[in-house]
Amino acid sequence: MSKLKIDPTIVRTDLNLEAIKDLLKVQHPITQKYQSLGGSGGWLGPSTTPITKCPDGVGSYQHYANGSIYYHPSTGAHEVHGLIRARWQSLGWERSFLGYPLTDETATPDGVGRYNHFQGGSIYWSPATGAWEVHGAIRTKYSSLGWERSFLGYPLTNENTTPDGVGRYNHFQGGSIYWTPSTGAYEVHGAIREQWKNMGWERSSLGYPTSDELIVFGGAGRISHFQRGSIYWSPTAGVRVLQERVRVHVKILDNPVSFTLNEQFAAMQEVFSIAGIRVDWVTTENLNLPSLADVDVGGCFMGQTTTEQNLLFRNRNFMSGNDLVVYYVRSTVPGYNGCAAFPAGRPGCVVVRSASRWTLGHEFGHVLGLSHVNNNNQLMTGGGTFNITNPPPDLTSGESTTMRNSNLSTPL
Ligand SMILES: [Zn+2]
Repeated sequence: MSKLKIDPTIVRTDLNLEAIKDLLKVQHPITQKYQSLGGSGGWLGPSTTPITKCPDGVGSYQHYANGSIYYHPSTGAHEVHGLIRARWQSLGWERSFLGYPLTDETATPDGVGRYNHFQGGSIYWSPATGAWEVHGAIRTKYSSLGWERSFLGYPLTNENTTPDGVGRYNHFQGGSIYWTPSTGAYEVHGAIREQWKNMGWERSSLGYPTSDELIVFGGAGRISHFQRGSIYWSPTAGVRVLQERVRVHVKILDNPVSFTLNEQFAAMQEVFSIAGIRVDWVTTENLNLPSLADVDVGGCFMGQTTTEQNLLFRNRNFMSGNDLVVYYVRSTVPGYNGCAAFPAGRPGCVVVRSASRWTLGHEFGHVLGLSHVNNNNQLMTGGGTFNITNPPPDLTSGESTTMRNSNLSTPL
């Protein structure tokens, strides 16, 4: 290659000094973005303003027939348009809590909607829902659940202040996220949300959610915790408000063989939910007490415990207050599924490893003051809990009241 030489006989005379300076100048980032989107022939259309400084004196923008490009040195240049732009405008453009855009308008991963992320939040749009902002801790929760692909779907509102003036919320297609400074942000949805709504949202006796919806002991039940109670739901028990609880400690001399601990606790929670009582499984401890693995329970009469029962119920690690305990043993002598007789001041029961799904709940029913009934549709049947065929077995309203009134169940 030959060296490039400037031929002094060829001189452009159409460029004055100012025009040469312009040619050397790097294009404004807004102009670069505009050109990358097709310029005046692209979907943004012709400009309707010059590139203009924002009121903060740092950023700048240009409006076009079909949208805007905003630039800030720390975010770069991004376009906003359509209903997302209209929502951003309604909140106060870059001077709102959203600040400057961090992205162009982008298709959501579900292929249905669109979004822009901003410095202080996001605006989500879909044809069915319109454009709404999410930000702060509520947005963080929404993100952690999987944005629009979660059960929440798209937002139906901006973040609003709750009627009690304390918290904030967004409603979504599939539920809501509620936040307060003291509780944090949690989702509530489905039948549990419907129950809470019917009770008066955060102004109900339950207050604000303190958990997402949780799976109960690995079963079909679901629960959301609130400041002053919980709402439980299962396919067979329906929706139940829980405003009392029992705290249960598990001591294992011999592991369950017929139903797992989870299955027995899930069953106990399901039937206790009828009484409005939450079952908190607090601790689990293995006890190496082979001499008590086949424990003598005598006649299993309330208030009449044997020497072996007294020895067994001395094992109270981690327990306090009105806490309850269940000891899992190989067998009782004579042979029962369990026995709810306990020494004074040490409330609890014994359950054998081959017990039924409902034995745990049945024995704690006794502990909370219930007696046998002659009806295999009821939890407290004297005919053996293996004969229960209507999950969950019935608790009468009188039995429920007795359980709630027991000093072993305490208000949430
Ligand atoms: Zn019984």
